[in-house]
Amino acid sequence: MNKPLIDIRNLSKHFDRGRHKIRAVDDVSLSIEAGEIVGLVGESGSGKSTLGRTLLGLDRKTAGEIFYKGSKLPTVYRAKDFHRYARSMQMIFQDPYSSLNPRMTAGEIIGEALRLHSDLNKSDIAKRIEEWLVKVGLNIDHLGRYPHEFSGGQRQRIGIARALILEPDFVVCDEPISALDVSVQAQIVDLLGELKRSLGLTLLFIAHDLSMVRYVSDRMAVMYLGSLVEIGRSDHVFFDPKHPYTELLIGSNPEPDPNQERSRQKVQSIGEIPSQLDIPAGCRFANRCPHAMAVCHDVNPVLRIVSHEDDERLVACHLYE
Ligand code: ADP
Ligand code: MG
Repeated sequence: MNKPLIDIRNLSKHFDRGRHKIRAVDDVSLSIEAGEIVGLVGESGSGKSTLGRTLLGLDRKTAGEIFYKGSKLPTVYRAKDFHRYARSMQMIFQDPYSSLNPRMTAGEIIGEALRLHSDLNKSDIAKRIEEWLVKVGLNIDHLGRYPHEFSGGQRQRIGIARALILEPDFVVCDEPISALDVSVQAQIVDLLGELKRSLGLTLLFIAHDLSMVRYVSDRMAVMYLGSLVEIGRSDHVFFDPKHPYTELLIGSNPEPDPNQERSRQKVQSIGEIPSQLDIPAGCRFANRCPHAMAVCHDVNPVLRIVSHEDDERLVACHLYE
C-alpha cells in the first residue's frame, strides 16, 4: 500500500465550556491516499468542520497526531508554519459570502495567497489570476468586481480559485455547495471533479447530503458526535450501510431513484441527539438506535473491519462484533 498523503491518528479536539468539555472530535483515525476524494458526512454538530479545521492547523488539536506525507504536523501553527504548508493544504469554505473579504476585488482575493506565499512578480501573479478566473468558469471582466456583485455560485468559484491557485496537494472542502441553489450545486461539484482530475488533488469533502457525496467521493467516512462510526467505499456504504446511524442518515436523504428497491424510510430516528456536553458512556448512538442491546449502553464500540472483499469496511458497532 502507498504511504497515505494524510494520516490522522487518534485525533481529538475538545473545547472547554465552563466546567464541561465539548468533545467535538474524539479519537478520530483516518488515512487519505493521494488522489483520493474522501467524503465526510454526518448531521450538523457532529464535528466535521472542527476535524477539517484541526487538520489544517486552524484549530489547535487537543490530542493525537496528523502526518502529511509521513511527516508530523505541528500542534501549534506559527506564521512560518502556515507559510510552509500553504502550498500543501488549503480549505474551501461553506459560505462563499462571509468567507470572502467584501472590500477586496475578485482579482485581489484570488491572488492573495500568491502575494503572501510565492515569490512571483506582479505581472506573473496577474497572469496566474487570469488563468484561474478562467479555470473556475469566470472571465476577465470579473477581475475588478466585489463579492456582492456575484451570485452565490460565482462567489464559490472565487473561493475555489483562491484555495487552489497555489496548487495545494490536499484540500478540505467544508460543505462547499450546501449554501447554493440546487441547480448550481451540480455545477460546482463538476468543477471540483474536473480540477481534481487535472491537478491530481486529494480532497476531504465535507457534506451532510450523502447522495451528493456518493457521486463525488471514492470513500466515505460517517461521523457521529465526534467519532467516526463507518468508513468504506462510497457506493458500498451508500447501498449497503452497516452502521445503524449510516442507515438513518441515508433514510433521511431520500433519493428519487425508481430502480432502487431499497426503502429509504426503513430506519426511523428514535430519541434525541445527546448533548455534546453529556456524551453517553457506551455507544454514542445507543439512545437512538433501533438495535441497541445492553452492551451498547456500557461499552463504546471501536472501529473494526467487518467486510473485506474488494473493500475495507470499518464499522464501530456491537452488532458486528
Ligand atoms: P459540524 O461541522 O459537523 O456541524 P462542528 O465541528 O461545527 O460540527 O461542531 C462540533 C461541535 O463542536 C458542536 O457542538 C459545536 O458547538 C462545537 N464547537 C465548534 N467550534 C467551537 C468553538 N470554537 N468553541 C466551542 N465549541 C465549538
Ligand atoms: Mg460544519
